[in-house]
Amino acid sequence: MKYQAPRGTYDILPEDIKKWHYIENIIRKLTSLYNYSEVRTPIFEQLDLFQRSVGEDTDIVEKEMYTFEDKKGRNLALRPEGTASIARMVAERNLQSSKKEPLRLWYEGPMFRYSRPQKGRHRQFYQFGVECIGSPKPIVDAEIIAIGWQILQEAKVPDVSLEINSVGCPDCRDKYNILLKNFLYKDRDKYCEDCQRRMEQNPLRVFDCKNNICRHLIVNAPRMLDNLCEECAQHFKEVKKNLEMMNVPFTVNPEIVRGLDYYTKTAFEYKINYLGAQDALGGGGRYDGLIEYLGGKQIPAVGLSMGLERIILSLEKSGFSFPEEDNLEVFIIPIGAEALQASIDMMQELHKADISAVVADENSSIGNNLKLCDKNNVSFAVLIGGNELKSGLYVVKNIKKKSQSEVIKEEVINFIKTNEGVA
Ligand code: AMP
Repeated sequence: MKYQAPRGTYDILPEDIKKWHYIENIIRKLTSLYNYSEVRTPIFEQLDLFQRSVGEDTDIVEKEMYTFEDKKGRNLALRPEGTASIARMVAERNLQSSKKEPLRLWYEGPMFRYSRPQKGRHRQFYQFGVECIGSPKPIVDAEIIAIGWQILQEAKVPDVSLEINSVGCPDCRDKYNILLKNFLYKDRDKYCEDCQRRMEQNPLRVFDCKNNICRHLIVNAPRMLDNLCEECAQHFKEVKKNLEMMNVPFTVNPEIVRGLDYYTKTAFEYKINYLGAQDALGGGGRYDGLIEYLGGKQIPAVGLSMGLERIILSLEKSGFSFPEEDNLEVFIIPIGAEALQASIDMMQELHKADISAVVADENSSIGNNLKLCDKNNVSFAVLIGGNELKSGLYVVKNIKKKSQSEVIKEEVINFIKTNEGVA
């Protein structure tokens, strides 16, 4: 029986991990510069958490969740996104009363959605997210948007555009929903089945439909952006002003509503136009009501999430060459079993000096072991046999330079350090 990775999942191979480390390092750097702390939450949560926070009538909850019962009959789900868990954690642990205010948090990890796999769409994929919890101020919306923008710029993802919108607060959205419903009802039967249902439960979501007929029908619909209450309009104005001050270029797109239920006021997306249907690298928005809705205090928050696969795909498509990671520096070749102890000692000394090293098979021929140096792109080989043990002089080969020296064993580390990078 030959096993395969489950459909929609994949392995990250040694030759590809540098791509992940590259982008993860940038995320770590930028989040740390803005003083965000990393948090890690469980990969599964109570099913109900996602039903309530993401929203019952979203694609994620309706069609895409991996749900299961544990042995005690508890209904659980693999997390499809990260914000619900963060909000649960803040509410459960009363984190908003901690010393730092606002709370600045970030996370990265696998998420799970049962969707049709295609390029840039997987069933297990990685997201990172940045969440600022505890401030209602427009400047933190801009801060979050700027962090995502800077990460993409620093990573050199080409041709990203940033689109922003406001989806209002429950007050102005309720009034607007009536207007929108009236508009949608005029051609009710012409919309797809999903949209006909959305009209009842959450009409704003019709803007998320990918069906061309629905998209065409909704072109002249009234926009949330034109129906914001005074406070939401002022908030949006300040977010735009702050983004300008931060030199973050954006366009306003009144159709950005985001697929999840919990957004209030600001909503935004980072987009590209060269990955076909998967045109969003990430996005986010403000979610002022979510933590309270999950049993915490009324506490405003704003966040973003981005998919790592799509960032990597964008870079691959642009021909970006990811920085190489360090190869094995030193291959220690014991010539015969008698040299094994000295070889292991040498390896441990090298490790103490932060130099990567492994010991070769003492029973393999020198020729074979030297071939392995080429195969593994090793910089130096240290050969230790009976003569070397007696004289205390080890043979150090610079593999790339094809040169060889005899070095006093106590000097090997210095020798390697001073000849490092000399090819
Ligand atoms: P969302 O939580 O749906 O707003 O997704 C945020 C980002 O996560 C998207 O823009 C993608 O980059 C990424 N993403 C979402 N779903 C998937 C998926 N099934 N496969 C790969 N990446 C995804």
